[in-house]
Amino acid sequence: MEFEREILETDILIVGAGPAGLATAYKIAQLAQSQSLEMPEILLIDKGSYTGAHALSGAVMDPKGIAELIPDFKEKNAPLEAEVSSDAMHYLSENGSSKLPFVPPSLHNTGKYVISLNKFTAWMAEQVEALGVDIYAGLAGYDLIVEDNKVTGVQTVDMGLDKEGNQRSNFEPGSIIQAKVTILCEGVHGSLTRHAFEKIPELLKDVVPQSYLTGVKEVWEVPDGRIQPGEVIHLFGYPQPSNEYGGGWIYGMTDNKVSVGFTVGLNSPNPQNDPHNKFQLYKNHPLVKKILEGGTMLHYGAKTIPDNGYYSIPKLYHNGLMLCGDSAGMLNPLKLKGVHLAIKSGIMAAETAIEAIKADDFSEKTLSNYKTKFDNSWAKTELYESRNFHAGFKGGLFAGMFHAGMQIITGGRGLFDRKVSKLDHEYMLTKKAYQQKFGVEPSKPTLKFDNEYLFDKLTNVYKSGTMHEEEQPSHLQITDFDICNTKCKEEYGNPCQHFCPAHVYEMVEDGIDSKLQLTPSNCVHCKTCDIADPYQVIRWVTPQGGEGPNYTNC
Ligand code: SF4
Repeated sequence: MEFEREILETDILIVGAGPAGLATAYKIAQLAQSQSLEMPEILLIDKGSYTGAHALSGAVMDPKGIAELIPDFKEKNAPLEAEVSSDAMHYLSENGSSKLPFVPPSLHNTGKYVISLNKFTAWMAEQVEALGVDIYAGLAGYDLIVEDNKVTGVQTVDMGLDKEGNQRSNFEPGSIIQAKVTILCEGVHGSLTRHAFEKIPELLKDVVPQSYLTGVKEVWEVPDGRIQPGEVIHLFGYPQPSNEYGGGWIYGMTDNKVSVGFTVGLNSPNPQNDPHNKFQLYKNHPLVKKILEGGTMLHYGAKTIPDNGYYSIPKLYHNGLMLCGDSAGMLNPLKLKGVHLAIKSGIMAAETAIEAIKADDFSEKTLSNYKTKFDNSWAKTELYESRNFHAGFKGGLFAGMFHAGMQIITGGRGLFDRKVSKLDHEYMLTKKAYQQKFGVEPSKPTLKFDNEYLFDKLTNVYKSGTMHEEEQPSHLQITDFDICNTKCKEEYGNPCQHFCPAHVYEMVEDGIDSKLQLTPSNCVHCKTCDIADPYQVIRWVTPQGGEGPNYTNC
């Protein structure tokens, strides 16, 4: 059936209503008002069913960003769980733990706040709307439109297709949103950002490949006295092998709620690297258990984290395009914090957008002011100082700690500048190569999930509020199923069964053989599969708008 797409026009299109997108919209509206400019048309779209539905983080927030954007954020009742009251770091062995006698100064969290990111973004959205900007939640961008070397907008997702892609009776074609400038604030490994990198290769010219962690978290309500609001505990060691990157956190929230999570590097050699499994093992450690046991698990979530820092920041602008927040890799790997940097990037992109509006020039010449602002900002200084942190752990945990110490002494350089050159999935070894290198077959510990304290993936997915309509094309596109069912099965043992924290991928016996089967409706949109698949045959594309996780209090 032929159809025409509706064409919508706007001055500024912002994709993603996380901290970066909301900061961008807020600052543009504020600058337009303070400079008595005609308010530009701003379209802010987000794929979640409500603002904050897909926002997930630990999180301890450095208030530097929000204080610059909304100096009276406290008076405006920003939802801060608690000001950080104490910091501690522990090294975990399988059954024991050692508290570090001191927390490195760069990891002090004095003056920072424990927050629920999805509550915080919902509050930011209220501030944005109060300035007259409408936010369109449930509207998902599907394709980035690039014409004549210029980004001209976005096509939104078609709604009402069946699994084969045929139009159903409720079919609504996606619209074309034409914008003078498109600002991508999609979060980690966004699908439109990926289009931008593919269609405009110069965005990644001379940029070091990004390196990712998958973070898995739960929010618990625990008995009185287990943890104070604002108490921050960071943990490293068990269950990560010492040659792999990652660690855990426990943050005290209000009302006896606790944010507990574990991050796992996706540059693991083990094809059975399973962030969810490691998180549950970590919860079973006596130090974590004594806080959580007897409590109730309320929420679950998982997402990837861009962790390579400064050297993986792409070119931030192109004709008609700017990149902000996690889409631009703006995360400090040393502090594992990105909310303040996302907000700051949004502020700088907004200032640049206003300059472009005034000059009526959205070419990269004008938009390059965004990069100039970044280069002169505290965001650049902070990211530059942490530029070698992640790469310093390439030789394992203890070498990494030594290098981190050297980097603190030398303003970030360490013994020498370290640049990684491989993509995360290129570190994964085949079963045979793993056996040859480590003398054992790749494996992961078997855990008994009682679904009262240790939860299996499906129970956890239920606690993420994830919803997808079954009747639609799979948003996990496998470009070659034969590879999954033959080569990948033999060589790697189908790592997707392990690294996906939502039990989307499963090898199912059909009586003769086993074949890969997908349940896309479980997907929590973490993007791990798109990053970690060793053959790169999995492509995550946006499902219908308003679907995916519905995070609350996360
Ligand atoms: Fe994450 Fe991919 Fe699993 Fe979805 S299918 S939850 S994006 S790993």
